Amino acid sequence: MVDRVVIVGSGQAGFQVAASLRQDGFEGEIAIVGDEPGLPYQRPPLSKAYLKEGVEDRLIFRNRDFFEKNNIELMDAVTVTAIDRAARQVALSIGITLDYDHLVLATGARNRRLPIPGVELANVLELRNLDHARLLRTKLEGGRSLAVIGGGFIGLEVAATARAFGLEVTVIEATSRLMSRVVSPPVSNYFLAIHRDMGVDVRLDSMARAILDDGSGHAAGVELHDGARIGADLVLVSAGVLPNVEIAEAAGLYVHDGVRVDDRMLTEDPAISAIGDCASFPFGQDGTVVRLESVQNAVDQAKCVSLRLVGRPEAYRKVPWFWSDQGPYKLQIAGLTQGADHHEIIEQDGKLSVQCYRREELLGVETVNAAGEHMAARRLLALPEPLRLETAAHAGFDLTALSKAARG
Ligand SMILES: Cc1cc2nc3c(=O)[nH]c(=O)nc-3n(C[C@H](O)[C@H](O)[C@H](O)COP(=O)(O)OP(=O)(O)OC[C@H]3O[C@@H](n4cnc5c(N)ncnc54)[C@H](O)[C@@H]3O)c2cc1C
Repeated sequence: MVDRVVIVGSGQAGFQVAASLRQDGFEGEIAIVGDEPGLPYQRPPLSKAYLKEGVEDRLIFRNRDFFEKNNIELMDAVTVTAIDRAARQVALSIGITLDYDHLVLATGARNRRLPIPGVELANVLELRNLDHARLLRTKLEGGRSLAVIGGGFIGLEVAATARAFGLEVTVIEATSRLMSRVVSPPVSNYFLAIHRDMGVDVRLDSMARAILDDGSGHAAGVELHDGARIGADLVLVSAGVLPNVEIAEAAGLYVHDGVRVDDRMLTEDPAISAIGDCASFPFGQDGTVVRLESVQNAVDQAKCVSLRLVGRPEAYRKVPWFWSDQGPYKLQIAGLTQGADHHEIIEQDGKLSVQCYRREELLGVETVNAAGEHMAARRLLALPEPLRLETAAHAGFDLTALSKAARG
């Protein structure tokens, strides 16, 4: 019987578990312990609307009343330092312990630090939380040039915004294409052209070797492995994240690129779940273990845990989806498209859609400025049987029509 749920982390996943538990009728105690100060807030706008407009009020999920009315105890600016699994207790940085019947680890991820000289210089920036975003915004407003190390979603979103602010922008990407971890080559190429059109200097196959010092402890640019030097008065390091797993690992839980959970988001300890950016879980029919970093993943896994805790367990089988806004271009991805061996590319009326197949089965669809196609893809990917290339070809690769037909 679960009477007291303690949630570690007050980000997207942590907030959602608490909110869903109340929605699902849980009447026990709920405490959220989060090391960031203030009310839980969403991160996606930090590299998008917030960076452009600087409006903080829109970031929070709910105001303080919500927590009071729903009897959710929010302990902000407090870190969980250790888990005592035998005693079912967590130790807090403020010198007390909390008992739990069920513990939810929603500790998220932190930015990877680059092991290169100069990362400690002033004006070397990162973006994961609101403090980072405030600083980045101020610096962009007064900056002349920005070098972004890492051509992933966040680096490219910031690059587009910085161009809109009038800065000279260079993106330094170690691999041969942009967003290579998450999108197909056709979409990488499409965004390469978009960024170059916006005036971003994109350097592919380029490794940052050092951040240069202007002689006064401030960044002056980036030196690449081939000796080339890129001048910039601001440097953003956006080279991926590492899951926050230390307290789980110290408590003896199995950790391998995230806290390992089963298809119900449970660790090997039946009193501990893990969700969101910090958790790795079995995905798809072959059970490949993945760790995803997205709002959808955090929210749906939180809902899955909530349902289990109120006695309505179900396996986690949601279709992953992502988005990224880069200038006026909205990239949306349904499914996981890595490992595709065939791409169907449809480009018309300013919209792009790339259907990604592996062994003739639809893995996912990447779209640009094509919300209808994205929604159709999500519906098709949720069907029990994967869509076959042959069937899609027969329908002229029209996913919207196929999705309507599937719904009858
Ligand atoms: C700038 C930016 C833009 C993004 N844009 C998008 C987007 O467009 N679309 C999308 O789908 N996703 C986007 N994401 C990713 C998305 O925000 C994350 O996947 C999501 O926030 C994950 O939720 P989470 O709760 O697992 O982790 P987080 O939101 O990171 O929350 C984890 C929290 O736990 C805290 N914590 C960690 N350890 C402890 C501890 N021991 N004790 C107490 N607290 C602890 C952390 O400080 C943090 O506050 C973006 C992320 C960033 C940073």
